[in-house]
Amino acid sequence: TNPGTSNFIKNIVTDDLQSGKVDTVVTRFPPEPNGYLHIGHAKSICLNFELADEFKGKTNLRFDDTNPLKEDVEYVESIKEDVKWLGFEWDGMFFASDYFEEMYNRAVLLIKKGKAYVCELMPEQMREMRGTLTESGKESPYRNRTVEENLDLFERMRKGEFKDGEKVLRAKIDMSSPNMNMRDPVLYRISHAEHHNTGDKWCIYPMYDFAHPLEDAIEGVTHSICTLEFEDHRPLYDWVIEECEMEARPRQYEFARLNVTNTVMSKRKLKLLVDEKHVDGWDDPRMPTISGLRRRGYTPEAIRTFCREIGVARSNSTVDEKLLEHFIREDLKLKVPRTMGVLRPLKVVITNYPEGQVEMLDAEINPENPEMGIRQIPFSREIYVEQDDFMEVPPSKYHRLFPGNEVRLKHAYFIKCNDFVKDENGNVVELHCTYDPETKSGSDFNARKVKGTIHWVEATQAVPAEFRLYEPLILDEQEDEEKSFLENVNPNSLEVVQGFVEPNMKDVKAHDKFQFFRHGYFNVDPKDTTADELVFNLIVSLKSSFKL
Ligand code: ATP
Ligand code: MG
Ligand code: MG
Repeated sequence: TNPGTSNFIKNIVTDDLQSGKVDTVVTRFPPEPNGYLHIGHAKSICLNFELADEFKGKTNLRFDDTNPLKEDVEYVESIKEDVKWLGFEWDGMFFASDYFEEMYNRAVLLIKKGKAYVCELMPEQMREMRGTLTESGKESPYRNRTVEENLDLFERMRKGEFKDGEKVLRAKIDMSSPNMNMRDPVLYRISHAEHHNTGDKWCIYPMYDFAHPLEDAIEGVTHSICTLEFEDHRPLYDWVIEECEMEARPRQYEFARLNVTNTVMSKRKLKLLVDEKHVDGWDDPRMPTISGLRRRGYTPEAIRTFCREIGVARSNSTVDEKLLEHFIREDLKLKVPRTMGVLRPLKVVITNYPEGQVEMLDAEINPENPEMGIRQIPFSREIYVEQDDFMEVPPSKYHRLFPGNEVRLKHAYFIKCNDFVKDENGNVVELHCTYDPETKSGSDFNARKVKGTIHWVEATQAVPAEFRLYEPLILDEQEDEEKSFLENVNPNSLEVVQGFVEPNMKDVKAHDKFQFFRHGYFNVDPKDTTADELVFNLIVSLKSSFKL
């Protein structure tokens, strides 16, 4: 992987190595297994892994599985697959839940030091007594319990003697701190729930703010990179490391999370789209998940380049989705074969072409990469063209087929439209054209010019194919507090059409990628393509107004 441009976290690591503050860099990617990874996670993955790679350090994959109600092994498996697919190898793979015993012991240490207590306030009371930014909080009546009493209650919490929510363990810090996170935050809660890894061994679970610094310290993480919302949690992170007497001293650094236009980027919202069947699963090609992007046809290279180029900032912003599209086009341009596919077919009979005759024409596979060679495509009396490449009454500047007009068939001949056939509903169902043998592609014919070049597929050998065309899943990126984001789901995000592709496409495999002339880049759908049914997902169209 290519380390690419500089960023402020890289500068910190460079300084820390130079000053001897650390002698090796250890990072981690710490997903909670409560959903599939999305493009925002990809940014964090690239940042953590590429940072360690560049300085010959290590990166752990750590499942931050401290919330049994929402977590599942299905998510664990998908996360592993996605990280590998993006091209990264972790050094260690860990589960936060493997550290529960150690975390418990550190909590006991806090109690013994008089730094934690068991509190019985109801959540509502606790919130009220925590105060506000302008008003200091009130101390809990349970705050001054003896160490013995706290040890006893905490042990009984673990044994399962209390119900969910009856008691919590809180840090004893400062109820008048200007930082709300320091006003005696909750460290442990009771939850009698089955955990995907530890089963029913535990009924108390550590809170993120307590668990995360301990996980980092246990693994010897040096630079713990998280998103900006956690900036205000940093004093608590440091407090936990200090008061729990952890040997390792990880430091937390925050960067701006990735937001992309016309999409939602939280696992909770993505899960809602799946559960309410707005999409066909987490890997629906319209989803901003890694698995969705993969199924759509995005490559790991394009995603990594995107993550690198958008940079690592300290202030939040929204990246235009067109930038992601730009990088997939760039990645595929020289790599994938060009081909022709007719999405909405209209039959054309070339009336002066001999019946029963088929000739093979040479066509460059990729004019921008001639090394890819030549393919052969059949041509005969009957072909398909695109319905909108014909107009009975064309507007000016329409240079495609209309009665009396001549166009170039890509890789073949000039054809001239002489007549058309309508069905009983008045729809044009067939064109009658003549071709000029002199105009064969590659023959240097230049006695006359035509303005339009259109694509086509020979009719008798054409392979039927389904094309799935996508638009953004979310219509309006403007988040409106009053409205659920579900009201912004684009009802037209998927269009399915049945067309034809060249006969040489018969044996394509899942994830093969092509540029269809004049249409865009497409991926062979890995789920719904069968021996009899080819399905192509639109990765990205050719046109883009986006300029770097
Ligand atoms: P979500 O709200 O989507 O569930 P999360 O932060 O709760 O995201 P985690 O599984 O906890 O998801 O995230 C794992 C790592 O990925 C964290 O370090 C988190 O900061 C990072 N991450 C998550 N979303 C983004 C994003 N949009 N941009 C950059 N990093 C992100
Ligand atoms: Mg999280
Ligand atoms: Mg979350």
